[in-house]
Amino acid sequence: MVPRHRGAHRPGATRMASMTHRITLIPGDGIGPELAEATRRVLAATDVRIEWEVVEAGESVIERYGTPLPEHVLESIRRNRVALKGPITTPVGHGFRSANVTLRQALGLYANVRPARSMKGLDTRYENVDLVIVRENTEDLYGGIEHMVGPDAAESIKIITRAASERIARYAFEYAVANGRRKVTAVHKANIMKLSDGLFLESCRTIAAAYEGRVEFEDRIVDNMCMQLVQKPELYDVLVLPNLYGDIVSDLAAGLVGGLGVAPGANIGTEAAVFEPVHGSAPRYAGLDRSNPTALILSAALMLRHLGEPAAATRVEAAVRAVIAEGRTVTYDLGGTSGTQAFGEAVADRLSLAAV
Ligand code: NAD
Repeated sequence: MVPRHRGAHRPGATRMASMTHRITLIPGDGIGPELAEATRRVLAATDVRIEWEVVEAGESVIERYGTPLPEHVLESIRRNRVALKGPITTPVGHGFRSANVTLRQALGLYANVRPARSMKGLDTRYENVDLVIVRENTEDLYGGIEHMVGPDAAESIKIITRAASERIARYAFEYAVANGRRKVTAVHKANIMKLSDGLFLESCRTIAAAYEGRVEFEDRIVDNMCMQLVQKPELYDVLVLPNLYGDIVSDLAAGLVGGLGVAPGANIGTEAAVFEPVHGSAPRYAGLDRSNPTALILSAALMLRHLGEPAAATRVEAAVRAVIAEGRTVTYDLGGTSGTQAFGEAVADRLSLAAV
């Protein structure tokens, strides 16, 4: 699956006049349902016709189905091939495996793409951040292979394969080519994990060779990468990382551009794609109409592009940017006092106005 436009993810996707897109919606839990409500309002103000298939996943369904990720949820995504997803809580240290991780693995969503781009109106240290994190989504320490070694020691097994590493590196380079990006930086800790991270780096180098002269390539050790990103983020462009570093560095990148409230993401596979924010379910804020729906709205914009609706995607992004730049109707994390639904309404109003 090769992206064609900036932030796009599906090749050859074309707009078919008056086509209705059937899409799986997983509102999630915690702040998820209220963010989903605001996002639906925004999408309803575009000219894209969407029929939502709403399905539930997470802790709340365990009693009913015996799992946080019932088979019918996976079936719905497989059938529709596209889903928009709110965050799902994963209890720490006990209980079921993360529904988020299980979903990515079950559907083979191997590429987690998380753009982090500065927006006018946000009080951040830097103004020109434009990063895209491409995170390997299926292996590394997320395999859940853990066991106790006696009562007082635990072992987690980190799996890195050449196939998955080359696949994600190829995705990062194809993304760079398709979106006019100049450089890919591979991030690793191969100085310490010489075999596992060494294999990741070697795989990236192999793929990079095929793009020589078209896309620059370099690598950074992950600790140095973190320091470089907080000191001079403008030097970096597309980053490709194994699963765990990708998770951590994408939160860091989100912090550079205004926080988790504004950081969207896409999980891309060959059979399906699931669009979701970088942030989690922020349970303390659930039901308070306080949280910022921007990350889910921008994830929906990535989804529109994937669906072959680039004009609508650009309009949604522009409307979000305009409302944030104006600063009158923004949520607490962006220095405002507006609620989740008021922000969604402001973005939807912008879209309706722009359509006149
Ligand atoms: P979190 O992202 O939910 O929240 C951390 C903090 O970030 C919040 O307390 C809040 O201050 C801020 N924040 C997050 N989203 C925001 C928004 N939309 N608007 C404004 N502020 C926002 O991280 P956490 O507290 O570590 O995790 C809570 C739960 O979410 C955990 O169970 C975790 O496993 C889960 N989680 C799920 C996903 C997912 O569904 N993909 C991703 C990350 C975490």
